[in-house]
Amino acid sequence: MVQSAECAASYLDWFCSLTSKNSARFSVTVVAAHPDDEIIGAGVQLTKLARPAVLFLTDGSPRNMHDARFAGCGSAAEYAKKRWCEALVALSMCGIRQDRVLSLGVPDQEAAHNMAFLSREVALLLDLLASDIVVTHPYEGGHPDHDATAFCVQAASSLLERAGRRPPAALLEFTSYHAASIGIETGRFLPNGGAVKTIKLSLQEQDLKREMFARYATQRQVLAQFPLSTESFRLAPAYDFTKPPDAPVYYERFDWGIRPSDWPGLVSEATRQLNLG
Ligand SMILES: [Zn+2]
Repeated sequence: MVQSAECAASYLDWFCSLTSKNSARFSVTVVAAHPDDEIIGAGVQLTKLARPAVLFLTDGSPRNMHDARFAGCGSAAEYAKKRWCEALVALSMCGIRQDRVLSLGVPDQEAAHNMAFLSREVALLLDLLASDIVVTHPYEGGHPDHDATAFCVQAASSLLERAGRRPPAALLEFTSYHAASIGIETGRFLPNGGAVKTIKLSLQEQDLKREMFARYATQRQVLAQFPLSTESFRLAPAYDFTKPPDAPVYYERFDWGIRPSDWPGLVSEATRQLNLG
């Protein structure tokens, strides 16, 4: 983590007060685990940016075929293609062209097993895109791919600094989901970071976001759990990823590729491979 708190806070202020008039001032890259996370977290803000880039770390298609079959697909590859096409259409509603949408293509539920590789790739792409601001997931034990993405963005920033390249000036977070006392909490952060800026969406913006959600037809049931009325952002805290998040781990209730007890070892191994210890 290399961002200076004072400087990064000014980027957060800028990002949360976007209008079409100042949208081209900084280069913004959204780094999301799965196709749909970017719209959940920042869909309406994305419409206000001149040329944002969106980078997905996974293809959104678990190899166990459960989701693929549910979506009527005969193979994981077919389901991945379907999700990619949904992403391109949803992002076109933000004015984002296909050449600004990238995927590293790791299978869904396997990002935590590939954090060293993904961190290096994210670093290369952030450098190529000359990203001033990165917006990504919080570390909150919601989905292991989300936590892995939070790790990879912070690791990539450190790799860039170590290489003498320019790291992003600010790492911001959008909301995703985490465990609640009963079920799931969406649209809010765990209280494990700094000040949260919440943008209230107008009725017109809510309609737009609803339309974006509708483009992700395969995710209809999941997306019904997310609010349309606000988007919230904050600076990424300097996490100790070897420690569990400050909440029950939501994904321990599911077979999503790793168990919570696997996480610290995977972080240690990625940190060792990246020589970031
Ligand atoms: Zn996700």
